[in-house]
Amino acid sequence: MSLGEFELISNYFLKACKNPDLIVANGDDAAVIQPQGNLVVAVDTLVAGVHFPENADAGLIARRALRVNLSDLAAMAARPKWFTLSLTMPEANPVWLEQFSQGLFADAELFNCHLIGGDTTKGPLNIAIQVLGELPADQAGLKRSGAIAGDLVMVTGSLGDSGAALDQDLCGDLEKQPSNSVLRRYWLPEPRIEFALRCQQLINAALDISDGLLADMGHICSQSGVDAQINLDSLPLSDQVIDCWGEQAALRAMTSGDDYELCMAVPKQSLAEMQKIARELEVPVTVLGEFIPMSGRQPSVTVLDNHGQPIEISAFGYHHF
Ligand code: ADP
Ligand code: MG
Repeated sequence: MSLGEFELISNYFLKACKNPDLIVANGDDAAVIQPQGNLVVAVDTLVAGVHFPENADAGLIARRALRVNLSDLAAMAARPKWFTLSLTMPEANPVWLEQFSQGLFADAELFNCHLIGGDTTKGPLNIAIQVLGELPADQAGLKRSGAIAGDLVMVTGSLGDSGAALDQDLCGDLEKQPSNSVLRRYWLPEPRIEFALRCQQLINAALDISDGLLADMGHICSQSGVDAQINLDSLPLSDQVIDCWGEQAALRAMTSGDDYELCMAVPKQSLAEMQKIARELEVPVTVLGEFIPMSGRQPSVTVLDNHGQPIEISAFGYHHF
């Protein structure tokens, strides 16, 4: 490495952190924190060549790595507080590191989440971020297992944008794209933190969609012991997704990954209240269908066309192995 390991860490990653719940800050052998309620922990690893192209803008890589993790906290309705960064990279390139750390700290500040430690090693580019958030001491957050037959299937935002971006050059210049381009959605997913915090009492079950709507809805169904029925026509699609995929847009948006929107089970009587909060926060919400009692031995998700007929779906989201 052209920069010494400790020089690198102190130049790019050791920033004074003014978090009052931090007892021992980054730079010591370990950080010591004092959570005020229940501690919520999630980790996601992004591997170059698998989760993002290696030669993409380093600032965007950092921001995406943090945001996909924050999305997991949003899906629990936890408030983000701290994160750690395990960074493996082939060489210590100061230009790359400057971009990476600028992007990282910009979003850390935006989401009020503080870097409290990490590890730096040499190897193929790989970014593992662990986020720590808080829930009130008497709460266990939004689980996948709470959906009840009769609840509405709801999602935030629009679906398929990131998937459509994968058909394009992911290393294209974001600044030259319109503000709502699919490329922007891929690199800068919007963790629905405030929405989840405000709506948590109105939600029976939730997760964030990372592997595709159908695959992830399947997790709510199997963990809750219910089936689900959704209407193909109700899928929220951006104009860009329709432009990219035409008639296939809704089908592809259900199975493409990386949306980082919330999929939720919402009791019907909570719908109006949720829509009110969603309007205030300018978060789009859409009803896709309903959770229903399980009909077979395994929980299942049925997609209906505009005549109410079930559609056969082949590709069921993204699997690593
Ligand atoms: P050790 O050898 O004890 O594991 P390290 O040399 O790995 O210590 O780290 C020294 C300090 O720098 C620690 O406080 C660690 O949290 C911090 N650190 C190392 N790498 C990073 C990183 N990528 N981001 C943030 N902090 C880091
Ligand atoms: Mg270490």
